[in-house]
Amino acid sequence: MNETITINGGTWKLIENENTALIHEYIKILGLNEITIRSFFHKNNPNGLIDASIQYKPKSKEYHIQFNKNFDAHKVVHELGHILLDLKTGILKAIKTNIEAIPRNNLRLRFIHFLYNCIEDAFVNYTLMNYPEIVPIFKKRVDITKGVYFSKKLSQEQYIGQYILFYLQHKFIIPGVNVGWINTNLNIFRKEYITTKFSYTNLHSILDTFNSVKDTTDYRQIILLFYKVMKSTNLYSENELKQYLKRKFKI
Ligand SMILES: [Zn+2]
Repeated sequence: MNETITINGGTWKLIENENTALIHEYIKILGLNEITIRSFFHKNNPNGLIDASIQYKPKSKEYHIQFNKNFDAHKVVHELGHILLDLKTGILKAIKTNIEAIPRNNLRLRFIHFLYNCIEDAFVNYTLMNYPEIVPIFKKRVDITKGVYFSKKLSQEQYIGQYILFYLQHKFIIPGVNVGWINTNLNIFRKEYITTKFSYTNLHSILDTFNSVKDTTDYRQIILLFYKVMKSTNLYSENELKQYLKRKFKI
């Protein structure tokens, strides 16, 4: 089957053969067999900011996943984890506007979106830790990344997003990570990559509340945590944050 869809001027080709097998393997492990999931492989990658994305299609009741060129077990599992989180909290069904609808030159809005995703991704990865087969995939990633997830040049917002995800991921999500190792890597982020000034003490104390909401079944708790985290960094005004959230979610 050779099916294509067009989003934001890019063509997404349906993944076939061994890649589909990889996806099916994890669909089974995560118990998502009853759910209609369609996967697409992105040939042109017009959105430099994302390497995989997922949407819920309310009319057909399907989930559509798009992957960038390089995808592996970690990305497959993570995207499927978004479905698990949606089944638990309704977060994908609450989305009104996807990133594809945000103009490419509206970088500020796209960066808020990136930061939002880092928070949602923490909830996704936490949900995945319920599956013992999945944990090693994330543990392996800890060794590979050595603190920085991407080697390409990132914006300040992206580094801050990675800092937030790193903090949550290693403190509350992946079991058995050494505290000293976490702190060393957080220091590297702060010293070498983040030039924006804000209070890390405030940021950390808000991030620590993740622990009490991580099992939530209400998507609004995820949005609320994002809002509190963003306010503590002063990267965006209250107005900008509210505008973003109203545009993205049915709230
Ligand atoms: Zn994600």
